[in-house]
Amino acid sequence: MNPIDASALRTHRCGEINTGLVGRTVRLAGWAARIRNLGGVAFVDLRDRWGEIQIVCEDGAPRDLASDFHLESVLHVVGLVRPRPEGMINVDKPTGAVEVVAREVTILNTCAPLPFPLDHADRIEEEMRLKYRYLHLRRPEMARNLQVRHRAAMAARRFLSDQEFLEVETPLLIKTTPEGARDYVVPSRIHHGQFYALPQSPQLYKQILMAAGVDRYFQLARCLRDEDLRKDRQPEHTQIDLEMSFVREADIFALVENLMAAIFAEAGGVVLETPFPRIAYDEAVNRYGTDKPDLRFGCPIHDVDPLVDGCGFSVFAEARANGGTVRCLRAPGLGGYSRKQQDELEAFVKKRGLAGLARLKATGGGFAGGIAKFLAPRFLESLQSQLGCQDGDLVLFGAGPIARVLSALGELRLELAQREAWIPAGAWALTWVRDFPLFERDEQTGGWAACHHMFTMPRPEFVDSLERDPGAVRAQLYDLVCNGVELGSGSIRIHRRDLQERVFKLVGMQPAEYEAKFGFFLEALGYGAPPHGGIALGLDRLVMLLCGAPSLREVIAFPKTTLAASPLDGSPGPISEAQLAELNLRITPPAEKEDLRR
Ligand code: ASP
Repeated sequence: MNPIDASALRTHRCGEINTGLVGRTVRLAGWAARIRNLGGVAFVDLRDRWGEIQIVCEDGAPRDLASDFHLESVLHVVGLVRPRPEGMINVDKPTGAVEVVAREVTILNTCAPLPFPLDHADRIEEEMRLKYRYLHLRRPEMARNLQVRHRAAMAARRFLSDQEFLEVETPLLIKTTPEGARDYVVPSRIHHGQFYALPQSPQLYKQILMAAGVDRYFQLARCLRDEDLRKDRQPEHTQIDLEMSFVREADIFALVENLMAAIFAEAGGVVLETPFPRIAYDEAVNRYGTDKPDLRFGCPIHDVDPLVDGCGFSVFAEARANGGTVRCLRAPGLGGYSRKQQDELEAFVKKRGLAGLARLKATGGGFAGGIAKFLAPRFLESLQSQLGCQDGDLVLFGAGPIARVLSALGELRLELAQREAWIPAGAWALTWVRDFPLFERDEQTGGWAACHHMFTMPRPEFVDSLERDPGAVRAQLYDLVCNGVELGSGSIRIHRRDLQERVFKLVGMQPAEYEAKFGFFLEALGYGAPPHGGIALGLDRLVMLLCGAPSLREVIAFPKTTLAASPLDGSPGPISEAQLAELNLRITPPAEKEDLRR
């Protein structure tokens, strides 16, 4: 802290009082985090953003006033720093070797009886914690989360600015441009019957900035999506959004790797190894059952299909005959799992749609138990040479439709890692997943939909044949995955109008529709947009991982509940008749539909 003049309210922060200040008179201000009133003497833990210090009120006015202190009231203290008596030193606290004997105490503000004890805030209903968010944010771990978030944001800004990115704000009131989720909409007062949308992301604007010659853009962008929030999602989130001109995928990977290294170092004190491994989408799904593989541990999925012919086990043969697959996990050292434990694993995959979980134990260079007796020796030999099992390994098989088998075994892999603590503490695994399909089947319409978004460039070898087999088209589309969590998505973009129109048509839009929705954007492409690409990284998720926090709500200052409400300010709420009249809006009774609040 900078030197403070003699008239300042405080000379030091609570958390920085240490043995070097013994014998000095200090002025402090903060909240009464804990009060122990012992009659002759009162101890108060005074807390500010930087930590806590024990204040001793043992004589005179401070002692007399101590009975008026309420928890979380705001105190100003003038006192002498002294060492704590032998045996009273608290080694767990940075200030635990000293205390401040109060000479003067002023109550700057009182605090009403607390709705919950702050030290036990984690056991309180979330709704309550969000209503009194300012109290919850006083908790040291919440204050720390905000600091980590700040450091991550600053590291990103510094790094990108050093790399000549310009921070450009894009509008919050935009034309509705569907990006997969539902838009939040804002009625226009001036333009009767017209609406703005709040941006799901600055996607089109950042691309237009490339057409404008900005070349390197970034923004810590607020993105709003009106989705059902049953999982750990938030209606508004923040992205480190960036876009670059005249780049290839490899340029973006290198830049983002260095950006992540800077953020992890500054916000988390973590040294990341670069470059990050790159894995194709198909490989990720085949080996880990997901496009967000957690690579902090091994245990990949193995393909057993080539061995199944003549294997002797009818379940496997039938799965193949029905167009399905047989895959397995080799779980190192789990051969000693009891029947009960194995049955638990089976129940786990059954919940995920598999008919069962066939098993083998590796022993004596061969296999025993489970389905061993049904399997032909040739199958078992080939299996051993493919898997390289050690004695004591457990092999777990899934058979059936391919997507179901892969995802169930992928989840089982994560479950085993949890049970067996396979993930080393403090391990980080950042990975690029790339070569995603450009299109996927839209289950509702039966047509094609963009896998990520419609502005993604196909890989060059698919450009000419786009319409022939849309399902086969691979795109210059990539995700950054960290410890099994998707941190961000990006792509090289389509920069030519003709190709963009073909993609619009492929996802089922007629020219009239895409002209109405995206005409302004197509025009911008037509006026000399350069080749460009970018990515958006979820700041909230990144900070959540860096803090080891269990939910996004822990790292957002003022989050919403799962019903998109804010218990703090009571939003959303009604607006006045006058406001409605100005907007020419009338509220009608809700149509009969599922009430999400139930
Ligand atoms: N705008 C995209 C999103 O929000 C990210 C990107 O492609 O840059 O998911």
